[in-house]
Amino acid sequence: MMAIELPPEILMIIFIYLTPSDLYTISSVCKKFRSILWPKTEISQHIWRKSRLHHIPFLNRSPPKLCTTTSGTEVMSEQQYLWLMIICEKCQFCEQKDKIKLTLYWEAKFYCCSTCLQKRTISGYKLIQGFPKVLIKFLNELPKMPGVANWEPQLYFESEAKRLLEEYNQVREYERDAWIERKESITKETKKEIKIYREFHSEFKYNFREVARKMALEIEAEDYEDKIMGLKEFKNFYCTQLATPSKFIKHTKV
Ligand SMILES: [Zn+2]
Repeated sequence: MMAIELPPEILMIIFIYLTPSDLYTISSVCKKFRSILWPKTEISQHIWRKSRLHHIPFLNRSPPKLCTTTSGTEVMSEQQYLWLMIICEKCQFCEQKDKIKLTLYWEAKFYCCSTCLQKRTISGYKLIQGFPKVLIKFLNELPKMPGVANWEPQLYFESEAKRLLEEYNQVREYERDAWIERKESITKETKKEIKIYREFHSEFKYNFREVARKMALEIEAEDYEDKIMGLKEFKNFYCTQLATPSKFIKHTKV
């Protein structure tokens, strides 16, 4: 008997013992497996959660409550959570595989490099031209954290702004005040949740040395922009001067 012919209740038991990566792979094997593993049902969440806790016991925190809808927030699916936390090993938009150059943005649910991120952010100045001012406070600013090169204040995620505007446009005019009030408390909660999970991901994915390397990348990008000698150039300059002291002395004499 082939695995595909097994009744769903037996398959579910087998699935629980597979790793999250295996679950991803087999969900693309056939329609039957996909129909069990892919939709966000109670059963699929149970399978993915069991697999997570069984194979990655350190990943014992449940998915964050981040997905906003007109009526409130929703818990992220186990599938998306596992994808962002462990399965995705390259930039979501390009082929960059160096994890030092990759950062997870819970705000937009991106795991990507700085170059790809830049193409997906929008400045407050540009945004305000076609965006109701009242909505700005509900957006997440690009966080200042290790690995975020070219950071500046009031940079927002374009996808988040677009989604928020769509949500706002669906609300009837006479319901807008109540919606804004509800949104204020949801935003507060979501921002708190993002902060917790940002730290959790950083500790889970990067060791101390890797965090330091991420910070060095960020400083180099900033210095490059400010036309300040980068860390590497500074090191080269310093070493050259030490290696040829006579040149240095000559200069100081003049
Ligand atoms: Zn990229």
